[in-house]
Amino acid sequence: MKTALVTGASRGIGAACARELARAGWAVAVNYRSSREKAEAVAAQIRQEGGVALAIPGDIGDPEQVEALFRTAETELGSVEVLVNNAGIAQQKLFTDVTEEDWDELFRVDVKGVFFCCRRALPGMLRRHGGSIVNISSMWGQVGASCEVAYSAAKAAVIGLTKALAQEVGPSGVRVNCIAPGVIQTEMNGHLPPQALEALKEETPLEALGTPEDVARAVSFLCSPGAGFITGQVLGVNGGLVV
Ligand code: NAP
Repeated sequence: MKTALVTGASRGIGAACARELARAGWAVAVNYRSSREKAEAVAAQIRQEGGVALAIPGDIGDPEQVEALFRTAETELGSVEVLVNNAGIAQQKLFTDVTEEDWDELFRVDVKGVFFCCRRALPGMLRRHGGSIVNISSMWGQVGASCEVAYSAAKAAVIGLTKALAQEVGPSGVRVNCIAPGVIQTEMNGHLPPQALEALKEETPLEALGTPEDVARAVSFLCSPGAGFITGQVLGVNGGLVV
């Protein structure tokens, strides 16, 4: 079966992407690092709705685990024709408090993880002369955020990777795009007090916070034939907060 692999799909934006892609007819590899029960529940829900899905573990920052993840997806589901690089971690700290270990771990997951997964997915896509990669960056990768310097730098790197890779593999029929979400209601923002979320909502032209489904619908579109002439782009899903 034609397979979509979504990294970090045990909850939040990744889980919504997995559900949306399954509705669009993809067999979905639901990757997670440690939240096995949640990932299995996402896959079970997709199967209940008549879709095809399998929860597969793997830390995307570890190339051996990425290899095992793809091998299981290919063996149990089918060739990976869509890759959604969604898994990511964030950190809020004053720049002067960021340690080398903080910096390395953020870049290991948010940047190297995208590199490892693209590198593993591409040979098959190039051979088949088709495929779509969607990388989940952030609006902070576009404009930068105070107290999130490492995260902003990592997400800016993902945008640069997307644009360069799109140019390199476009002639081989593979499209690479990027989504830059705004403030989306997930556990990643769970630490923000209600007043801070309310203030962000008020600042947003569409006067709302985003949902994981808002991002998932944009991802599904970028993977669809309707987006066949779109590559190397950064699509903001942010209610107009960054334009
Ligand atoms: P989340 O609720 O914290 O979920 C993160 C997911 O990533 C979880 O499924 C987690 O799985 C997985 N993950 C983390 N490290 C991993 C690793 N090394 N290998 C494999 N999986 C890993 O986050 P979210 O809000 O849905 O965010 C998803 C993506 O959108 C991230 O890249 C984030 O930077 C980006 N984003 C989010 C927002 C927002 O407002 N929420 C805004 C802009 C961009 P386990 O639980 O198993 O570790």
